[in-house]
Amino acid sequence: MEQQHLINLAYLVAGILFILGLKGLTHPRTAVRGNLLGAIGMLIAVLATLCDHQVLGYKTIALGLILGAIIGALMAIKVQMTGMPQLVALFNGLGGGASVLVSYAALATGSESLITSVAIICSGLIGAVTLWGSLVAFGKLQELDFLRKPLRFSGQQAANLVLAAVTLLFGVLVLWYPNPLSFFVFLSLASVLGVTLVLPIGGADMPVVIALLNSYSGLAAAATGFVVNNNVLIIAGSLVGASGVILTQIMCKAMNRSLFHVLFGVLEAAGEAADADEVYAGKIKSTSAEEVAMLYDSAERAIIVPGYGMAVAQAQHAVRELANELEARGVEVEFAIHPVAGRMPGHMNVLLAEAEVPYEKLREMDEINPSFAQTDVVLVIGANDVVNPDARNDPTSPIAGMPILNVDQARTVVVVKRSLSPGFAGVPNPLFAADNCLMFFGDGKQAILDLNRALKEG
Ligand code: NDP
Repeated sequence: MEQQHLINLAYLVAGILFILGLKGLTHPRTAVRGNLLGAIGMLIAVLATLCDHQVLGYKTIALGLILGAIIGALMAIKVQMTGMPQLVALFNGLGGGASVLVSYAALATGSESLITSVAIICSGLIGAVTLWGSLVAFGKLQELDFLRKPLRFSGQQAANLVLAAVTLLFGVLVLWYPNPLSFFVFLSLASVLGVTLVLPIGGADMPVVIALLNSYSGLAAAATGFVVNNNVLIIAGSLVGASGVILTQIMCKAMNRSLFHVLFGVLEAAGEAADADEVYAGKIKSTSAEEVAMLYDSAERAIIVPGYGMAVAQAQHAVRELANELEARGVEVEFAIHPVAGRMPGHMNVLLAEAEVPYEKLREMDEINPSFAQTDVVLVIGANDVVNPDARNDPTSPIAGMPILNVDQARTVVVVKRSLSPGFAGVPNPLFAADNCLMFFGDGKQAILDLNRALKEG
């Protein structure tokens, strides 16, 4: 068989492995196998590509591989678990950046067909939007001061639309007069578009944007596949693009946002945050490990609600021990998982799986919400925005309309966090001032360890 046929066969096998890998990732029980299948598929794809006659020399590839491996390994070792969402956003962006570089190189060497030229434009456009959009998203997740607040001004959506139209026009111009200078201007416009699309977004809309940028990075890779005429890149890019769109849709549903609005960058304008002093003044009741342990003494049903703070504190193992201890005392314990708790999709599921909390104990928002009213003690650990009743009750709140876990309906709510600081959306939370809420101030892990000790001693 000809070499090219063998390579295409290898690509086909890789493509099948990617699909099986994605299927495996849809359930925690098969996720590890799914990951492995995807990785084997990628290994086959890389090896087959290296055998391609288009590869003119291996020196640059080897250099890139060594440099990339060193930088990647250092980043993976250095990054804290809490920095993972930012790292994922950065990797998305780098995928887009790679597409931009390939498209620039392809344009410089000249293209043979109209299809390739269109692919070069698409690869550059989507790649640049992804790169710069992801860099802004990285800054927001990193909670950099100047990016923390969504930047909004009147007429912003119209300005974005005009910028998008001008960028596309330039793209068409590059098609007719391809030269590096006009392409550079086109890429610059697309880069500014990437920044201006993500700048106004914050709070409840961020998870949707993260998923969308993930999808864009796949589409950029697929377009690059057409540029370099590589089938496996087209397949892998399309799979990432399509799964990203599905994730975006799931996030939209979870956040009560419309996909149309998100796709066209017309995210809902949010209202102003309430004043924290007004919300909390004189209404906060703090509690201690011993008091919370006593609450559990008379409880029959308890729910634990994890959030971003559990990831920061790395409290998942202590939380699992707490659940075990309560169950040993005959308390029914469940975990309530909000779809955007934490800083990346599935964040809480990953942490709790790492701590070996049985998957059957995790309940999704829609499933568990009706049962809060029949629950004796709800322990909220490091969650804030996802349990903020203002999202449900105050139409002027910046997070209005975001579905929440209705923890305020339980008999008693205990909130573990270090202070009254707001969560990602930057808004005060009236739950903390509610009559049935007790604040258990402290670092998440230490607080739960203290609680576990108090339960054992009590
Ligand atoms: P939040 O960001 O609303 O709140 C986290 C809370 O954890 C803070 O109020 C903080 O309070 C507390 N905390 C931090 N460190 C510790 C610690 N060591 N011990 C105890 N508590 C701690 O988290 P949620 O999970 O409730 O909500 C997620 C937010 O992130 C939503 O707004 C969502 O839209 C957004 N988002 C989600 C993404 C996703 O894909 N899941 C992606 C991007 C954004 P204190 O400092 O007082 O301790």
